[in-house]
Amino acid sequence: MYVQKFEDLNKSDIGIAGGKGANLGELTQAGIPVPPGFVVTAETYEKFMEDSGINDKVLDILDQIDINDTKALQSAAEEIKSIIIETPIPEDMVMFIKEAYNQLCQRVGEDDTDVAIRSSATAEDLPEASFAGQQDTFLHVSGDEEVIEYIRKCWASLFEARAIFYREENNFEHSKVLIAVVVQKMAIADKAGVMFTVNPSTGEEIALIEGSWGLGEAVVSGDVTPDNYQVDKTNNEIINVTISDKKVMYTNDESGTSVKVNVPENLRMERVLSDDELIELTEMGKRVQAHYGEPMDTEWAFERDNLFLLQARPITTLDGDAPAADDDAGVEGEVLVRGLGASPGIATGNVKIVLDIDELDKIEEGDVMVTTMTTPDMVPAMRRASGIITDEGGVTCHASIISRELGIPCVVGTGDATKTLKENTGVTLDGKKGLVFEGIKKVEEEAPQATAVAAEAPILTVTEVKANVSMPEAAERAAATGADGVGLLRTEHLMLTAGIHPGKFIADGKEDELINTIAENVQIVADAFYPKPVWYRTLDAPTDEFITLEGGENEPEEHNPMLGWRGIRRELDQPEILKCEFKAIKKLHEQGYTNIGIMIPLSQSPSELIQAKALCSEVGLEPHKDVDFGMMVEIPAAALTIEDYLAIGVDFVSLGTNDLTQYTLAVDRNNEFVAKHYTEEHPAVMKLIERTIKKCAEAGVTCSICGQAGSVPHIVEKLVKFGITSVSSNADAVAEVRKTVARAEQKIILEAARKRLE
Ligand code: PEP
Ligand code: MG
Repeated sequence: MYVQKFEDLNKSDIGIAGGKGANLGELTQAGIPVPPGFVVTAETYEKFMEDSGINDKVLDILDQIDINDTKALQSAAEEIKSIIIETPIPEDMVMFIKEAYNQLCQRVGEDDTDVAIRSSATAEDLPEASFAGQQDTFLHVSGDEEVIEYIRKCWASLFEARAIFYREENNFEHSKVLIAVVVQKMAIADKAGVMFTVNPSTGEEIALIEGSWGLGEAVVSGDVTPDNYQVDKTNNEIINVTISDKKVMYTNDESGTSVKVNVPENLRMERVLSDDELIELTEMGKRVQAHYGEPMDTEWAFERDNLFLLQARPITTLDGDAPAADDDAGVEGEVLVRGLGASPGIATGNVKIVLDIDELDKIEEGDVMVTTMTTPDMVPAMRRASGIITDEGGVTCHASIISRELGIPCVVGTGDATKTLKENTGVTLDGKKGLVFEGIKKVEEEAPQATAVAAEAPILTVTEVKANVSMPEAAERAAATGADGVGLLRTEHLMLTAGIHPGKFIADGKEDELINTIAENVQIVADAFYPKPVWYRTLDAPTDEFITLEGGENEPEEHNPMLGWRGIRRELDQPEILKCEFKAIKKLHEQGYTNIGIMIPLSQSPSELIQAKALCSEVGLEPHKDVDFGMMVEIPAAALTIEDYLAIGVDFVSLGTNDLTQYTLAVDRNNEFVAKHYTEEHPAVMKLIERTIKKCAEAGVTCSICGQAGSVPHIVEKLVKFGITSVSSNADAVAEVRKTVARAEQKIILEAARKRLE
């Protein structure tokens, strides 16, 4: 059978319809509302590949590639994908598919109705990575010709480079991995999200629901922080509602294409789901769970008043354990409060209620911290706590994330722990089941172990969060934020405070003085952060800023200094200054400050870097060997040719988005008349940023950002998704950015976990 309607499929049809298709069939058969559709079966794909004769061609190409040669792999993937996309589908197949689509149009009473087209993995036990690429969902496809075209694109996605790589690495036979394609009426959601039919970390009978405005893509992709709700399934009581600031949504533009837009101001903090809708969803969750006989992870959408499920798959729980609803971990007694188990483990201690940040000092080693919701500035006190309990929050809130990283048992979303629990009374908390018991219970080793880990473990995000420093006197404060280093040490300020133009030091034969001035100032910063890395940026001196310094009277008067004699182009014209800077860094390295790296600003071509490296070697400091040597990407030319820089060797790259934005948009960043046109979020700037990050990731080179965009949480969230490895913010934004980064990372992990469950 080339195509199968959802009505004719059930969950055992994975081999025919893939996991997604089989589950949609099962839901349809169970009478759960699912937008109607059909599946182009795995057999159709197999037959297409065989009958059109391209199977052998594809296998031949695959036979010949060395998967570790990234370029060759990439071009083989492109070649295979274009073969598939360009090969006509046999007439009889086309006929069946078009027929199924036209029947769907008739059924919904719409010509050329909009459908979503998604790939559906046929081998359940194969990891996601072995299967299709990322672009395997196409929304708003309309008309039978377009349906055919996108089915071929779905098939082609089986040969994304990373999927080929994965299969080769793990010895999966390419020809054994088949793909089915789901074609489903688009649900034009007004609101959508996900629902776990039980708490995935404890197995408790609580529906965990996340929802936001517009199509579900916003929640699933992690583009938005959704509202979070919890409903007790035993009595339909709504036990927690957390409303988030929902900044973006996916919606349809006039042509019916889905576009990401800002959520209207009045809806951002508006609650998405009413009590009635939550109960309707919970009831549907119960039906789905009862039908499958196990807890489920679902995607839902409301189109006006109509609720649909778009996806359902069993939860095997996020940590891979089966939910243990009746495992009481040995603790018994009176339960004082209940919430969500956010970080597993048993902890005991005296309750300390913190309602204000000033009260953190009362948390002593081994106390149980009870608070409304934790914030980043509570982290040092959280470290001292043996357990953490909050009124608010869900399994991905700050308290949950941090306590998991610290290994401290934690219960969140209790509603009223700060009111119910009594100061200085002993409690025992079960961070897996989300229960808090009266009294200090005897428990096995677990709690002391967790505390020991807590005392030592640093707060970690995998993406480094660093600080920008311009003034040495601000270094201590910046270091106190816990930043992972200095991602930009602006040198200009050191010179401005010295009050003498660096060119004058040279002209007066006082090179040693210049070297010492630089070294002394940089040392203050390197000390404050030692042994964390400090990237010293060589002088980027616009002529108009240096004109007022002693000796600056010789600065040329330029028509537009922003486009003028600054950055590495100027330093290569005045190599004596650059050499003094390198000598200062060398001196510090010799004193043991090997944490200092060198960063070159405003480069437009790799030859500048080659020359700068040669000057560095000339003073006896060998780039890459003695010192990390990196560059900023501030000119579109550098972003567009970053691979050429990577080829000559750089230890790290940092995006200078302040300049990158002005040079991309032709908007002088110092000119107030055009200030309203200045935005880092212009798609052209974002494309250059994304390109740079991805090319660096491919080459395994650290990519950071040190422009102002790195202090803007919602931009940082995107950068983490692009794969940035470090973010350098203004010192006062470090805490907030770290929070954003942690959340963005958690979302990626959660998303990957959900995908694995597919
Ligand atoms: C930048 O251009 O983004 C940057 C960090 O450098 P500056 O602001 O010092 O030009
Ligand atoms: Mg700059």
